Amino acid sequence: MNLILLGPPGAGKGTQAKTLAKNLSVAHISTGDILRQNVADGTELGKQAKDFMSKGLLVTDELVIKMVGNRLGQADTKNGFILDGFPRTIAQAQALDKLLDERKLKIDYVIDLDTSEAVIIQRLSGRLACKGCNYNFHVKNMPPKVAGVCDNCSGELYQRVDDKEETIKKRLEVYRKESAPLIEFYAAKNNLQRVPADDEAGLVLERVIKLVEKR
Ligand code: AMP
Repeated sequence: MNLILLGPPGAGKGTQAKTLAKNLSVAHISTGDILRQNVADGTELGKQAKDFMSKGLLVTDELVIKMVGNRLGQADTKNGFILDGFPRTIAQAQALDKLLDERKLKIDYVIDLDTSEAVIIQRLSGRLACKGCNYNFHVKNMPPKVAGVCDNCSGELYQRVDDKEETIKKRLEVYRKESAPLIEFYAAKNNLQRVPADDEAGLVLERVIKLVEKR
């Protein structure tokens, strides 16, 4: 099963993708997580991406396309994958089509997590991310059992630099301009599914699972 999760920042792509990947035994490919890891490790890729990320801008297509091409070549994608945060531009979607053709793969579903702006802002401004395993929590909606500590791996929780209010606004602007057109792009290919995603994570997950089980 190969899936793409679309949706604005704060739609819950990461949260849904992590659980779904476990349930379906497929690889979770989050370009944001890979980039953050590279920034933390101080790699060349991380150095090139860091400024774009902290300003809420997109990293160049060339860098992320290369990154995803490499990631799709790894053994754990054999059983399938969930793309979370990629593609984010039409150029990335076209490049992904090529990468998939070369590997004789196809996407089963493109799932758009349909989320309202009020919910996005509420989620992102209270989000806490784990430095260890990238799990997300929320100060109100999904607090960790122990403040500041990840339930999953006991790692340290922190607020992402791009979850500050000004940067959230910028990311939403970038989403509307660069990424929202992907909905039309995939609707035209007839494999787009829209899932209402304003509700709590468990309920949204049930909707997504119902959808992929139909296959
Ligand atoms: P995310 O964790 O998906 O919200 O991504 C965090 C940041 O990483 C984004 O705001 C971008 O700066 C960068 N990023 C992640 N995925 C992509 C992508 N597909 N294209 C360009 N930039 C990306």
